[in-house]
Amino acid sequence: MKNQSNDLETGWRFDNSYARLPEKFFTFMEPNPVPEPKEILFNDALAHELGLNTEKLKGSGGTAIFAGNEVPRGAKPLAQAYAGHQFGNFTMLGDGRAMLIGEHLTPKDERVDIQLKGSGRTPYSRGGDGRAALGPMLREYIISEAMHALRIPTTRSLAVVTTGEDIMRETVLPAAILTRVAKSHLRVGTFEFAANWGTDEDIQKLADYAIERHYPEANDASNCYLALLEKVIEQQALLIAHWQLVGFIHGVMNTDNMTISGETIDYGPCAFMDTYDPATVFSSIDRRGRYAYQNQPPIGGWNLARFAESLIPILHDDEAKAILLAQEAISKYRQLYEDNWLSGMRKKLGLLNEESNDEALIEQLLELMEKYKADYTNTFLALTFNKLCNAEIFETDEFKRWYDAWQERITLETQSEEERLQLMKQHNPAIIPRNYYVEKAIEAAVERDDFSVVKQFIDALANPYAHTPVQNAFATVPDFEEPYRTFCG
Ligand code: AMP
Ligand code: MG
Ligand code: MG
Repeated sequence: MKNQSNDLETGWRFDNSYARLPEKFFTFMEPNPVPEPKEILFNDALAHELGLNTEKLKGSGGTAIFAGNEVPRGAKPLAQAYAGHQFGNFTMLGDGRAMLIGEHLTPKDERVDIQLKGSGRTPYSRGGDGRAALGPMLREYIISEAMHALRIPTTRSLAVVTTGEDIMRETVLPAAILTRVAKSHLRVGTFEFAANWGTDEDIQKLADYAIERHYPEANDASNCYLALLEKVIEQQALLIAHWQLVGFIHGVMNTDNMTISGETIDYGPCAFMDTYDPATVFSSIDRRGRYAYQNQPPIGGWNLARFAESLIPILHDDEAKAILLAQEAISKYRQLYEDNWLSGMRKKLGLLNEESNDEALIEQLLELMEKYKADYTNTFLALTFNKLCNAEIFETDEFKRWYDAWQERITLETQSEEERLQLMKQHNPAIIPRNYYVEKAIEAAVERDDFSVVKQFIDALANPYAHTPVQNAFATVPDFEEPYRTFCG
């Protein structure tokens, strides 16, 4: 059932299916207007994909909408309710500083959420001001778009506007609103909310909704809710393998920040690892390293177990059998993750065949990278282009032995050298959003009102596998004097 509303001028086609769920899942409300909205970034390529009229929306034309001062025709803004385990502790949450404006249908009839982040207080805000600072919104724009270019499932960023207001954080900062585009904002935490504050019927309605929206093929299974669970496990096993392969650290893998669609969401204290160290943590609030790089795969499993628990009332009439089904599904996660990771790592080393010693070969390389504090991304680039210089690791006998073993392994491949080079170029990015350049870009914007640095960076990040001087310019960074720290924004 659709209640679609088209706006021929702007291209918006809203149809708000989430608003047809039971009312406890949301609160209708409009964004709080802001005094002086000004567009800072607009994503032309994404707008085009969405079927939006760039000429109408870019510049002053769309600012009122992206600021929340004007609700586009057919949209029906609401704040979503959800719960979640934050650092392991269960709590009620909800959109406290974001609002779902509505769901837009793309020219391919794909449904996407249009969300404003930083749009003001909601009934779920608790203490906060409902606003967001410009720096973190630029950060989300930069990193989410970089992730998309790296071919990693992610929410997208359509626009950033400043509001003309200052907000209090540790210091006074300019406020901004990010327009986020997502397959949906259904989270593990949305199901936890239903399981804790809803009826079994509510859980079922939410699950039916998630199936229709993301995994319609689950309806063909004899137990569609078990199929939903299995699909989400599969997608998250794939997503987290992608993260590990590029050295992305999410930073706050609470269950409210894990999507049902399998997209990366909620770019707060996330960052990319430069020097390879499995224990890397950037987030200032992650004191025990719960969300360290090496913990991301098992934490993914922990979060999925919370998802499975919330589905137990609808997995089977007999609770004991439901629990068994949930456990069985969850037990497959680890192998799924490892298979994805290994297959990705093989490609990074230019390998297409599967040999039994491949995993050991990869682990040996990672151990050497850790021991000699090698840059994760640049080590793979050096191997790709056979430029083994400028790093201590390459001078060691241990590495030379590893290199010979790798070359020996390559003789078992049937592809040509040129094909292997192409494979490695396609799986070893020339550019990632390194913390140093992310900070430089944000600093120029926030402190000097200079947005050229951020735009240039975003352009370079759009083609990470191009390996031209545009990307290569961002490959090396000066050492930080202090350990790099990120904040929740
Ligand atoms: P996050 O860290 O973005 O996953 O947010 C966790 C919870 O805190 C969510 O319920 C957010 O909506 C809420 N929250 C974060 N920042 C603010 C803010 N400035 N004002 C109100 N609520 C917030
Ligand atoms: Mg969140
Ligand atoms: Mg959030």
